[in-house]
Amino acid sequence: MSNTVEHLYIHIPFCAAKCDYCAFYSEPAEAAKIERFLVALEREMEQAAPRLAPRTIFIGGGTPSILTTAQFERLLKHLHRVIPALGSRLSTPDFEWTVETNPATVSPEKARLLRSFGVNRVSMGVQALDDAVLERLGRVHTVAMAHKSLDILREAGFPNVNLDFIFAIPDQTLAQWADTLRRAVALAPQHLSTYELTWEDDTPLLRELQEGHVAVPDETTTLAMYQQMQSVGTEFGFHRYEISNFARPGFECRHNLNYWRGGDYIGLGPGASGYVDGRRYKNVANTAVYCERIERGQSPVDYDERLTPRAHAGELVAFALRMNEGITAAAFHAQTGFLLDRLWPDELCALAKDGLLEWDGLRLRLTGRGRLLADEVAERFIVLEKADARSHHPGHAD
Ligand code: SF4
Repeated sequence: MSNTVEHLYIHIPFCAAKCDYCAFYSEPAEAAKIERFLVALEREMEQAAPRLAPRTIFIGGGTPSILTTAQFERLLKHLHRVIPALGSRLSTPDFEWTVETNPATVSPEKARLLRSFGVNRVSMGVQALDDAVLERLGRVHTVAMAHKSLDILREAGFPNVNLDFIFAIPDQTLAQWADTLRRAVALAPQHLSTYELTWEDDTPLLRELQEGHVAVPDETTTLAMYQQMQSVGTEFGFHRYEISNFARPGFECRHNLNYWRGGDYIGLGPGASGYVDGRRYKNVANTAVYCERIERGQSPVDYDERLTPRAHAGELVAFALRMNEGITAAAFHAQTGFLLDRLWPDELCALAKDGLLEWDGLRLRLTGRGRLLADEVAERFIVLEKADARSHHPGHAD
């Protein structure tokens, strides 16, 4: 008998326009495509529902807020219909339901509707508080829209708002980033996510860099930007609980904590991934193919894999080290059956000696210096082996 899964991710793959730095899979928001997608998503929800008893739901994208109020109503009604227990879960204290929004597509009607169906957290991609910078990033919104959307969300009664920001943007100075952070905090969110700009292949921004039209802040400035987040966060009562995430006490994102703690979750929608019973899977990242497969009664899963016990243990440590809490030896043993210091005695010693890890035999976590080199540290634990060869699913019937 399979256990129930308490964490659900739903992917909405549409955006108003492609941002200049973005290499994520997304599609132009065309009405007919969205209608077809919603029908397919409803079918996928119905199939997943018997296993779901959600404590967290995260509707991400893409740009979920690109859906109209009527389209959202249909999606949320369907979710409540296929998971009848959802209604009673809404009032439980640790229930968290997030919807990602873009400041250009928030309206009072939509905000009220989301709230009335139980959504209690909104994550808004503000990214910058300077219109020239937003334009450089190819964002479709302005700073004024972000302010207005925040007012709308507050008026609708959302108790928990996250704002996303990007740093190490071309030509950005340390002083500008400090100013952005202070103004971000002044907007009084419960949670802040700050991500270093990544330079993705085949993006307009990378081409501009390669052609010499933009300059990237140097490594010293970027490191100082990381440190600045820490000091502004601490000054204003935010706790850095993960490398890129800051929260007021009690507002840490429970959905993301489950990912970093290696918990199970079900992912629905094109390109969504999931992790259930030791099996990791990913749906096909193409909305037309996703719809076709579901319409034919086939699985939308593009591939799945089962990690070996050692590979799973390595992945668990790599994710856990992103969190301030790290991982305890006891939790590691309970989840993997391995003893942490038997599995990686040399790595633990060397990384602790280099001042990158704190390890007292009970808990493993990154030091302040280790956080700046988190990816390099995590790589030392990644084990590249799979129990099953990756299996492709060219549209097989379930
Ligand atoms: S809104 Fe997000 S997913 Fe869409 S193009 Fe911009 S960065 Fe990419």
